[in-house]
Amino acid sequence: MPNKPITTGPDRRGYYGPYGGMYVPETLMAPLLELTDQYGQARRDPAFRRALNGYLRDFVGRPTPLYFAERMTRELGCAGVYLKREDLCHTGAHKINNSLGQALLAQRMGKHRVIAETGAGQHGVATATVAAMFGMECVIYMGAVDMERQALNVFRMRSLGAQVVPVTAGQQTLKEAISEAMRDWVTNVRTTHYILGSALGAHPYPRIVRDFQSVIGREARRQIKRQAGRLPTALVACVGGGSNSIGLFYPFIRDAQVQMIGVEAGGRGIRKGQHAARFAGGKVGILQGTKTFLLQDRHGQIELTHSVSAGLDYAAIGPEHSWLRDLGRVEYAHVTDREAVEAFDALGRWEGILPALETAHAFAWCVQQADRWQRDDVLVLNCSGRGDKDVQQVAAWKQEHTR
Ligand SMILES: *Cc1c(COP(=O)(O)O)cnc(C)c1O
Repeated sequence: MPNKPITTGPDRRGYYGPYGGMYVPETLMAPLLELTDQYGQARRDPAFRRALNGYLRDFVGRPTPLYFAERMTRELGCAGVYLKREDLCHTGAHKINNSLGQALLAQRMGKHRVIAETGAGQHGVATATVAAMFGMECVIYMGAVDMERQALNVFRMRSLGAQVVPVTAGQQTLKEAISEAMRDWVTNVRTTHYILGSALGAHPYPRIVRDFQSVIGREARRQIKRQAGRLPTALVACVGGGSNSIGLFYPFIRDAQVQMIGVEAGGRGIRKGQHAARFAGGKVGILQGTKTFLLQDRHGQIELTHSVSAGLDYAAIGPEHSWLRDLGRVEYAHVTDREAVEAFDALGRWEGILPALETAHAFAWCVQQADRWQRDDVLVLNCSGRGDKDVQQVAAWKQEHTR
């Protein structure tokens, strides 16, 4: 492959090739433009970067280790499998890298109230955590169905002083929670910043989230060069909205020899309503501010999605991923619920690490592709989060599927 630098965007209007943009009602344009402007200033401000790096180190616990997984390496028969340990971040997943950055941005913009949506609750917990740390008012919107499924995270958010608002519209899950958060933002924009949790939504969010999560890939690039003495053959990460994956991939995007694989949720198989693999069953459309690949019917109605992992269970994928797929720079794959649950067990037994069910999708794919790996291949897997939150889900899944 020629080492031709590729440009992923966004361009000035917020597009990644034909994807992305700002598909919002007029009332949201002014706040989004203000955010674009303020973020542009913040990212060039050394004082902002110093403050961010200080909290990343002392509060989040960065840099996270790049761990050589010896037994998994033997199982896959390659030169090395390295796990980027985002599960060791404070609150147990990569989400806090972004929540922290955006909370600092809110402070800088003079906004003392933050709001967020959450699906599984991980982004809500990360946001409630940084809001408590900075002394900000915090409201989290969460689908009523998700609140029931993720009662532990609801309790954590409330203990951190956040108000958790149940959303009872539609499917009562993540998509409705995002709509509700956007409504709150329009109404209270003078005092409030909306901390969106993945590389999704209208410009400038996909870019802001990518930038704050890119600390993962910057560290991993330095670490793998030191520890393996070379760049990896491949990077592998799970893809919900696409934030942990773009965070790992982006700093390697010009290293043409490094393969990148994003793993979506294949659920119960690629049949309507049974999965969340946007590139397997989706088409280009517009959802919640952005143009990207979506699961929708022929009338443009959003289809139901399913995944055993709540964090991958969303009908749209971040717009930059749609562009990276068109460019052929990133390969996208999917694995089923069953394969993810098996990988959850395997990683526990091989490495003493219980991964989040989202993360388990990336592991499952690596195991499934064991034949693809050669003796001198080096893999970096993003261990996006820890599995404590999912033990009940795994137990329930096993009970339902064994008799
Ligand atoms: C939220 C979450 C994901 C999926 O979101 P992305 O934005 O695609 O990263 C993956 N892993 C964990 C542990 C999560 O909490």
